[in-house]
This record gives sequence, C-alpha cells and structure tokens, in this order.
Amino acid sequence: MDLRDSEEQAAFRKEVASFISDEAPKAKKGVSGVAALAGSWEASQGWFQKLADKGWIAPAWPEEYGGAGLSVMKQFVLSEEMALRSAPRPGHLVIGLGMGGPTIISHGTEEQKREFLPSIIRDRDIWCQGFSEPESGSDLASIKTRAVRDGDDWVINGQKIWTSFAHQAVWMIMIARTDPDAPKHKGMSYFVVDMKSPGITVRPITDMGNGQLFNEVFFDNVRVPARNMVGEENRGWYVATTTLDHERSAIGSTTGLKQQVEAMIVFAQEHIEDHTSSLGKNPMLRYELADRMIETEMARMLSYRVISMQNRGEVPNHEASMLKLYSSELQQRIAATYLHLLGLYGLLGSGSPLAPANGRHGSAYVSAVSATIAGGTSEIQRGIIATRGLGLPKN
Ligand SMILES: Cc1cc2nc3c(=O)[nH]c(=O)nc-3n(C[C@H](O)[C@H](O)[C@H](O)COP(=O)(O)OP(=O)(O)OC[C@H]3O[C@@H](n4cnc5c(N)ncnc54)[C@H](O)[C@@H]3O)c2cc1C
Repeated sequence: MDLRDSEEQAAFRKEVASFISDEAPKAKKGVSGVAALAGSWEASQGWFQKLADKGWIAPAWPEEYGGAGLSVMKQFVLSEEMALRSAPRPGHLVIGLGMGGPTIISHGTEEQKREFLPSIIRDRDIWCQGFSEPESGSDLASIKTRAVRDGDDWVINGQKIWTSFAHQAVWMIMIARTDPDAPKHKGMSYFVVDMKSPGITVRPITDMGNGQLFNEVFFDNVRVPARNMVGEENRGWYVATTTLDHERSAIGSTTGLKQQVEAMIVFAQEHIEDHTSSLGKNPMLRYELADRMIETEMARMLSYRVISMQNRGEVPNHEASMLKLYSSELQQRIAATYLHLLGLYGLLGSGSPLAPANGRHGSAYVSAVSATIAGGTSEIQRGIIATRGLGLPKN
C-alpha cells in the first residue's frame, strides 16, 4: 500500500502551503484553530474571505454553490496543511459547512441548494443543529417536538437542548414529529428553521469548563415555510442520519491531533530542565508520548478510510463511528498526557501568571470530556460498529 500523495495531490499540497504562508494571519506558536481565531478575530475574517474567494471554505462543494469542486482527498490535504501550519479555521461554521450543507446537497431541492449553500460561504452564516431534546439524546428517534401543517407553513412546538451555537445561529437544521401515530422512525420530518422566527427562545447553558457553547431552544408556535422541509414528509429520520454520518466524520477529523502531539513533544523537550515539564522527573512519560504519537497515526489511517469512501461518493456509516469513537477517546488521552507532562502546573487556571500556555491545557482537559458525548456517545458508536459493522445482533 502506498499512502504517499499522488503527483497531483503533492502539487496541490505545495500550492496550499504557499498560499497559507503568504496569506494566513500568523498564529501564535502552538495555537491553532478556534484558539488562534479567538486571538485575532478581524485578521481571521480577512483570511476567511481569501479562502472563500478561492472556494476553499467548502472545497469539495460544487463551484455553483461557492465551493471549489475539489475531490474529498484534496479537501483533506487542505485541511491537513491548515492544521500543520496553524492557519485559523472557521470552526464556528462547522454545522453549516460540515453537516447542514452536505445534507442539503444530498437531500435538498435545487431551490434549497441555491438559497442556503452560497450564504454559508458568502455571508458565513452560523448554523445550529436542533436534534437532541431533554428526553431524547441517544434514542434520538423518540423526539417529541411537534410540527403541524397549517396552509403553506408548518407550526412547530417543543424544546431542543444542548444546541451548540444556537445563541449566534442564523439557521437551524432540526427534526420534528409530523406523524405522532407512525412508528417512531417513520413519523418525523427535517426542516431548516430561521432562528429569527417569532416564537423561538434561546436560553444559554454554561458547561463545566465555564464555556457557553450550547443552549436550550424553545419553540412556541414557530411558523416554518413548507418549502424549508428537506426530503420527504415523515422521512426525516433518513435525512437526519445523513447529517449524523457527516457529523461523526467531521468530529473524527484527525488533522489537528498529530499537530497537538507534536507541539506537546516540542514543549517536553524545550522545558525538560525547568519546573513546568515533568519529563525530567518521570521518564515513563516518554512511553506515554510515544503511545500518543502512534495513536495519532492510527487515527490518521481511520481518517483515510473515511475520506477514501467519501471520495468514491459513498457515505461512511460504521466507518465514521470508528473514526469518531477512536479520535474522541484519543483527544481525551492527549489532553490527559499534557496534564501528566505539566504536573501540578497543569491545574493552574488562565488567571495565574505561573500557568503554562495561560492555563489552556487545563481547559482542554475539561472540554475533552464532552468529546465522547457530542455527536453520539462512545457506547452508541460501539453499538453501531457492533451491529452495522460486524453484523452482531442488537441485543
Ligand atoms: C459538547 C456537546 C455539544 C453538543 N451539541 C449538540 C448540538 O449542537 N445539537 C444537538 O442536537 N445535540 C448536541 N449535543 C447533544 C448530544 O448529541 C447528546 O448529549 C448525546 O447524543 C447523548 O444524549 P444524552 O445527553 O441525552 O444522553 P443519554 O442518551 O441520556 O445517555 C446517557 C448515558 O446512557 C448511555 N446509553 C444510552 N443509550 C444507550 C444504549 N442504547 N446502549 C448503551 N448505552 C446507552 C449513553 O452512552 C450515556 O452514557 C451536544 C453534546 C455535547 C456534549
């Protein structure tokens, strides 16, 4: 097996690398993605516009919807180079770009594609995902939020929870029950909802890392035009599973993991003589770092499998679950190893002058806890792999 770039991919990698080095705002050493973005929002906006102009915000989308029509393989190369070079990435657009957009490309009408897709890139509208409800998370098909047809509209009543970005979102992809008498997987439909619609209330939830990413969203007689239903009435479950497959593939993206481990190794080497690195006192940490590096390579192989399937036009299912499961648990192990390396200094918060990297690693450890819950818990992923992947019985 030869996993090296083809000639075309290698040329594209070079093109991306020089574009990033010429145009991207310079991130602080060791800071990437949303962290870098938070530091220089304005510079990042200019950079995102440059990416949008080249169609590189959604590189694999067709050109007529604002993408660059690239293969999924080239999209992955772009993503790897961005991670490697700490170029800011539009993480806040993840639901529109990685879940809503691809679902509309698969199941939407031409009118929906033209209305929704270009604005994700052009206006960089934030989207959110209204799937989970207070009593429906893992058993998503048990949702109770109702949509009732009234003329040219559907009228929605109910509640969603854990809705990331709802407080900033312009659009929501959501599922609601449209036939309460049908078996639970067969009586729901999929909608795109304007978050400014009258009757929507968003209430923030503070997470255990003191972050405010997710929210409760209440629907009180919210009117949604019938043209905003994606896919057929009562067949929304099948549309939602496309979103979930994309979500798991995106959550499982491993492009940043290797860079995190490499940064950790550089930190360990640079600080071996001083108090912030435990490596000098605890040589066993060498083995832990070696394990993390091997694991990022394994995660990369799982990514390649998912990317190759997408490149052939297939939608990965249990393969996406394998990637999501492995890389989310790896994310937690990487965060834990960083804290082992920092010793007690890793527990200092961002207010402390003694905190290495301004306390970032302590917060990363806390926020990594949610990685194995978001997008379906590890138990649910293992269930999918066991049944759909290995053909084992459900119970
Ligand atoms: C950071 C974060 C962001 C999120 N963002 C969003 C979002 O934007 N939109 C959205 O809709 N949702 C979002 N979620 C919600 C997420 O999808 C749910 O939390 C997740 O699906 C689990 O559902 P639950 O919390 O209701 O837990 P439950 O389903 O109540 O599960 C509780 C426990 O029981 C276990 N369990 C449940 N059923 C089974 C089973 N059949 N077999 C074995 N074990 C089982 C679970 O693994 C878990 O350990 C987010 C969650 C997090 C953590």
